[in-house]
Amino acid sequence: MKYKGVIETYRKYLPVTEKTPVITFYEGNTPLIHSKYLSELTKCEVYLKYEGANPTGSFKDRGMTLAISKAKEKGSKAVICASTGNTSASAAAYACRADMDCIVIIPKGKIALGKLSQAIMHGAKVFEVDGNFDQALELVREMGEKYPVEIVNSINPFRIEGQKTGAFEVYDQLGAVPDYFCLPVGNAGNITAYWKGFKEYFDNKKISKLPKMTGFQAAGSAPIVLGHPVNNPETIATAIRIGNPASWKTAEAARDQSGGSITSVTDDEIIEAYKLVAGKVGVFCEPASAASVAGLLKRRKEGKIPDQQLVVCVLTGHGLKDPDTAIKTGQKPKSILCNTAAVARELGY
Ligand SMILES: *Cc1c(COP(=O)(O)O)cnc(C)c1O
Repeated sequence: MKYKGVIETYRKYLPVTEKTPVITFYEGNTPLIHSKYLSELTKCEVYLKYEGANPTGSFKDRGMTLAISKAKEKGSKAVICASTGNTSASAAAYACRADMDCIVIIPKGKIALGKLSQAIMHGAKVFEVDGNFDQALELVREMGEKYPVEIVNSINPFRIEGQKTGAFEVYDQLGAVPDYFCLPVGNAGNITAYWKGFKEYFDNKKISKLPKMTGFQAAGSAPIVLGHPVNNPETIATAIRIGNPASWKTAEAARDQSGGSITSVTDDEIIEAYKLVAGKVGVFCEPASAASVAGLLKRRKEGKIPDQQLVVCVLTGHGLKDPDTAIKTGQKPKSILCNTAAVARELGY
């Protein structure tokens, strides 16, 4: 087998040795898709990094392969995470492969259906709490201090190490460094990880410039934009419904060191982009992922990004993760009689 996952592909950049058992589903190597439609719309060259194509349907797999491999190396028997959904789906699958227990704490009623079904099917011990993600993460931190469970949220540094491979891959696929690198920001691990990856390629002289890190929060959960934690974060984009990001400081560093920005997009803008990416580009991503495209369109409209720039937007998770939002916001099937005349009439033939 030629492709062996992100640990083998980028081994020399990662904290692993021959002794590390590599727990992988051959994550990474996801498509970098050029969009003619978005390029014409924005007068830029726009590529979409489709992380929904990872084994469990989100970029979390890049970090999870390393976090679980290192936990296994250490001899841990159980991992724990708080999750808005995708972390738990990924942790449950990789823990299953590593023959470890997986404990998942989720905010009640705020997890997209696809993600919850994954955690359940992979045999995680799933607990829902009356609280938001930030409170669930606090609980997980305490559990990690008191009990023999390894935390696999992005406060685990191996998660960031694994996720930085996304930056390597973007360059290796594109053969160029994007001018603007757009992505959604929730707990802010991913923007931290991508920036770390780009800087490491820079330090290793693989690249000679760096992208402007351009992050987007949902307007109802935009602590970094506002400059203070948000107590009751709200957004349809549940994957970024986070009021007090764990990697706040490093996200600000990525923004400032790169000359980038972290701004907000409304739920309406997110849904508009979500439909556009699915309906005009043909790529189905989940609502949080569409924040990257919504943000690009907004910053172009505001004149904050010049013409002719090379732009990569990360589509962090697969659209099938959240079928409810698709059905709710998309066009409903129309009921017709089962004959050709009826279909032809509807189509105007
Ligand atoms: C986790 C997640 C995010 C947010 O990433 P952070 O590292 O928490 O900023 C965005 N989109 C999707 C689909 C996610 O699963």
